[in-house]
Amino acid sequence: MPKYLKISFPQKCIGCELCVAETQRQLKKVGLEGALIRVFKQSNESFGIGTDRNFEEELTFTIQIDPTVNKLNIQKIRDICPTGVFTIQEEEEDGGLVS
Ligand code: SF4
Repeated sequence: MPKYLKISFPQKCIGCELCVAETQRQLKKVGLEGALIRVFKQSNESFGIGTDRNFEEELTFTIQIDPTVNKLNIQKIRDICPTGVFTIQEEEEDGGLVS
C-alpha cells in the first residue's frame, strides 16, 4: 500500500528545518532549490498586558509538502523531526487513508 507523509501536528513545529535538510540530502541537493518541503515563519506581535512598551513576539510556522516527497524515504523525514509534526498514512485499497 502506498504511504504518505502527513502534517499531523503543525502547531508543534519549531522551524528547525531538519525535515527540509533531510529531504534535500535524499535528493542530493544543496540549498532550497527544488525543495519538496518548505517551512514558512510567521511573526505575530502581541502587546503584553498592562505595559505599553513590552511586547511578545509569537512565532508560528507553516509547513508545505510537495506530494513528490512521498517517493523519498518518508520514515526518515518523519523520524528526524524533533517534535513529531509528521505521521505516515497508508492508503487502503478502497482509497481511504489510515494512520
Ligand atoms: S523538522 Fe519538524 S520542527 Fe523542524 S521544521 Fe520540520 S516540521 Fe518543523
